[in-house]
Amino acid sequence: MSNLEKVDPEIAAVIRREQDRQLRGLELIASENLVSRAVLEAMGSILTNKYAEGYPGKRYYGGCEFYDIAENLARDRMKQLFGAQHANVQPHSGTQANMAIYFATMECNKDRMLSMSLTQGGHLSHGSPVSFSGKMYQVHQYGVDLESETLDYGKVGELAHAVKPKMIVCGASAYPREIDFRAFMEIAESVGAYCMADIAHIAGLCASGIHNSPVGVVHFTTTTTHKTLRGPRGGAIMCNQEYATMVDKAVFPGMQGGPLMNTIAAKAVCLKEALRPSFKEYNRQIVKNAKVLAQVLLDAGLRLVSGGTDNHLMLIDLTRQGLTGLEAETALGKAGITVNKNTIPRETKSPFVTSGLRIGTPAVTTRGMKEQEMQMIGDLITRVIFHPQDAGVLSAVHREVSELAGKFPIYPE
Ligand SMILES: *Cc1c(COP(=O)(O)O)cnc(C)c1O
Repeated sequence: MSNLEKVDPEIAAVIRREQDRQLRGLELIASENLVSRAVLEAMGSILTNKYAEGYPGKRYYGGCEFYDIAENLARDRMKQLFGAQHANVQPHSGTQANMAIYFATMECNKDRMLSMSLTQGGHLSHGSPVSFSGKMYQVHQYGVDLESETLDYGKVGELAHAVKPKMIVCGASAYPREIDFRAFMEIAESVGAYCMADIAHIAGLCASGIHNSPVGVVHFTTTTTHKTLRGPRGGAIMCNQEYATMVDKAVFPGMQGGPLMNTIAAKAVCLKEALRPSFKEYNRQIVKNAKVLAQVLLDAGLRLVSGGTDNHLMLIDLTRQGLTGLEAETALGKAGITVNKNTIPRETKSPFVTSGLRIGTPAVTTRGMKEQEMQMIGDLITRVIFHPQDAGVLSAVHREVSELAGKFPIYPE
């Protein structure tokens, strides 16, 4: 960072301090990960300098011959990884990937969409009233069954028949169980709706065959590239060839101008990494780690939403402890453990306070942590949750967190 230190020491200091925080702490936010040095190098490259509006071979600017190679590599690798007929790697984020599909399929202020509610696991961009998606479309929502806290496909089907939506959205941000994408597609077909699966969180698991994949099953699959896929912050879309033109037009010129070509190059790099056999092994370890961590929390007497996990995340219901998600997040933060508060089914508190905590294993698994470390992390978390006000406990846990994190570099390779 020698140039940055000279030109802007304040920002250089921010980066140094943040790097230190990432190194010393335990990152357990389910939607976060740590990218490789190769991904960082592509993102920080001179590929940020140019406009490349359009698609490979059909650009609106000259001088794009090398950008075409990068974007084709990203698209081809994504198709190969997921077995997709078509891929668009230009969306700047997961929300924009979803926006493109809505623009491609629904008419504003008219068409109905059926999606999972935010408080029960869905995402803001799935029709929350504070998001563009809730303002532009007639949104109807399904949730989980309040007894099992899992999806009830029969109920979703009944809702679909009552609502007759143009679009059914499946996929979640805080759902610890496997989603049956084929069941959603069958429901969509039975009412003549489009089906979009948003695999932002579980893309790595789907690519690795650990979670069933919606690619080729539903009409449109959207994702982020920065969660379990372990790439740069961004979005992508996959679909069958018959929808390729409609999707591409919705992204550009429908919704975006120039693509972030440094990010697209970095997406190509992360997808190359994801095609290696070690990526499957990594994703298997994410799930093994989550299962061990969940068991430690259950054994300590904590309640997990739906009783456990099938994927990379779990939701702790703190109601019995008389603690809010906000209080638990704050106490764990003081001890160097980063998590986020989250609503749970039957939520009674505001989204800023909440009754739950969402915990995920992708980032600590990237650092090389395995079952033994999950046991330790589970113990550290429970000590904080049972003694959130005890400064002695918090500082003791913080010391142990730093010690554990110090043994696992951010860049294992
Ligand atoms: C994270 C997430 C997104 C959006 O990601 P951004 O890149 O932050 O816009 C979309 N859908 C789901 C289900 C997510 O979990």
